[in-house]
Amino acid sequence: MSSERNVFGAMLQEFEGAARILDLDPGIWKILTKPKRQIIVSCPVQMDNGAIEVFTGYRVQYNITLGPAKGGIRFHPDVSLDEVAALAAWMTWKCAVAQLPFGGGKGGIICDPSKMSQRELEALTRRYTAEIIDAVGPDKDVPAPDVNTNEQVMAWFMDTYSMHVGHTATAVVTGKPVEMGGSLGRREATGRGVMIITRESAKYLGFSLVGARVAVQGFGNVGSVAADLLANMGAKIVAVTDWNSGVYNAAGLDIKQLIAYNRQHRTVAGFPGAETLTNAELFRLDVDVLIPAALEEQITVANVRDIKAKLIVEGANGPTTPDAHKYLHDHGIFVVPDILANAGGVTVSYFEWVQDRHGYFWREDEVNERLEAKMCQAFEVVLQTAQKFNVDMRVGAYIVAINRVATVTKLRGMYA
Ligand code: NAD
Repeated sequence: MSSERNVFGAMLQEFEGAARILDLDPGIWKILTKPKRQIIVSCPVQMDNGAIEVFTGYRVQYNITLGPAKGGIRFHPDVSLDEVAALAAWMTWKCAVAQLPFGGGKGGIICDPSKMSQRELEALTRRYTAEIIDAVGPDKDVPAPDVNTNEQVMAWFMDTYSMHVGHTATAVVTGKPVEMGGSLGRREATGRGVMIITRESAKYLGFSLVGARVAVQGFGNVGSVAADLLANMGAKIVAVTDWNSGVYNAAGLDIKQLIAYNRQHRTVAGFPGAETLTNAELFRLDVDVLIPAALEEQITVANVRDIKAKLIVEGANGPTTPDAHKYLHDHGIFVVPDILANAGGVTVSYFEWVQDRHGYFWREDEVNERLEAKMCQAFEVVLQTAQKFNVDMRVGAYIVAINRVATVTKLRGMYA
């Protein structure tokens, strides 16, 4: 249960490892380990059966030193303030690693969207937007989709905000439909970034992705796109799992057909020509690459010893607990941390925000080319930092991020 988890504690542990190596100033340390703003709202919604339900929503702006807060909104029964704060902190480090002019934020609503109608979801989104409206805006805080939210939710958010401020404000959210100021390439951006990082890591580790065996946990926006792009490059996606079940085929799954099947059935379970597989079995597979692209805390001390992959690319946020990460590092498994591996989404979100503010839109190949350049640059800087300090990629990424935020914090000085 989320209330028993301590995702924020896991984030702090990661932060502290890098901050110690950097010999971070104790005052800056204090600033960077506290959320700047945490908003809790109650959102009453009249449900289709006439009853009124009150949903709890959160928005955390963890740090806004580099620019407006940036981060998704999650709809899930397990959402908690602890989780949202951790995700907001990770967004801070992610934006800094990718060198974007953004701070970190995150939002969430405790709800089960699978049990709600479109009308109920729209009402909830609009009420949540209205409740946090003073805190968001193109210069303040720019939300985006996350687990169980999508382009439509962003369209409702943007419309509600625009109605309140009296003009169309496209740049208040990213991940919008392309017809209303969204960026080409945004939907695929996180998965594309995961593909780029997997490719660069394999190059560094000296193995080819052609014929490489890949297992993917989670087949949503991130997992399905990463799987598809890697399959296009010749990798064999042997296993995919989701909330319900999983599928395995030693010869490689047909990812295009699996995407079509998943769209129709809302699960990969029962995909023809594949064996059934559980999440636990997925982690035990003899694969070259493992891509956790579902939720936090999936690789833990309970299953880390089963892992045989030589490369783990964290598509999800926080999928590996700190203790499990230590084991992986000690056993020579190359782990690319979430704040680098899944930064493709926020990078193209940044491109979307820039395009909205210019009122000038780029071609998809321009977006992908700029994403490619940003991801490769971030990978290179983190790799060099990790080598310089003789640490793993996670600590390397934190060193890069903390250093950037700390430098600007010092330059801006203390306002009191
Ligand atoms: P999504 O809702 O599109 O897909 C989530 C997938 O995970 C679904 O296939 C779901 O069935 C599966 N899943 C859920 N619970 C599971 C479980 N217990 N075991 C196995 N599979 C499970 O979400 P998404 O946008 O693809 O996000 C996935 C992860 O990536 C999250 O951690 C999110 O924070 C992170 N992320 C997303 C983006 C983005 O742009 N969408 C960007 C950066 C990071």
